[in-house]
Amino acid sequence: MRLIFLGPPGAGKGTQAQILQERFGTKQISTGDILRENRSKGTELGKTAEKFMLSGALVPDEVIIKMIEAELDKFRGGFIMDGFPRTVAQAEAFDAMLQSKNLNLDGVVLFEADRPTLFTRLTARWTNPRTGKTYNSITNPPRVAGIDDEDGGALVQREDDKPETVNKRLDVYERQTAPLIDYYRATGKLVEVNALAPVSAVTEEIVAKTGAKAAS
Ligand code: ADP
Ligand code: AMP
Repeated sequence: MRLIFLGPPGAGKGTQAQILQERFGTKQISTGDILRENRSKGTELGKTAEKFMLSGALVPDEVIIKMIEAELDKFRGGFIMDGFPRTVAQAEAFDAMLQSKNLNLDGVVLFEADRPTLFTRLTARWTNPRTGKTYNSITNPPRVAGIDDEDGGALVQREDDKPETVNKRLDVYERQTAPLIDYYRATGKLVEVNALAPVSAVTEEIVAKTGAKAAS
């Protein structure tokens, strides 16, 4: 399966990508996680990305496109793009990349949620910086506050999940990323899911609408 998860920050893309990765073995490619890993390792890419990420802006297209080109060959068997593409220029470059490798996209899943819900979810999000797994202090708390159920290590609140940065990121989504809805609708590959439903119901809707299944 080759899927793109499209939707605003906080809609649950990462949560669902991790569930489907576990269930079907389809690799989650989160551009946000890759960038954060580069920042924590202090690479040139991480240093370039940092100021954009902290302010809630998008990292420049050319930086992201180069990064995805380097990743894609590792996942010829299938992927879920989580957080990419985020601009029309990125989508066009991605189409060209897939075409040059003779790869088809199976579907684009649009996560629909209202802004007040997104704001509440993001400001209550707790993240495991080692694995990218997220919790929510309101809807999905860990067994012990601040501690990951799985690896027992500390959870953190992302710097860009502060209220003022969250508002900026939601604005950036509406201005720069939402135009991709029409872009992908025109390909006939867009399916919409209700991201306000409980986590397991969202998973089932994605599976039903994309025909997601384990790689054969
Ligand atoms: P995204 O990757 O789209 O930015 P996340 O998957 O990180 O979003 O989810 C944002 C927050 O909302 C997290 O704290 C997560 O636990 C919570 N969350 C995700 N899906 C749901 C859902 N269906 N219902 C309630 N809370 C959810
Ligand atoms: P995310 O983890 O998806 O919420 O992304 C966190 C931040 O990383 C974003 O606010 C951007 O600064 C940056 N980022 C992630 N993916 C992209 C992308 N495809 N294009 C540009 N910036 C990105």
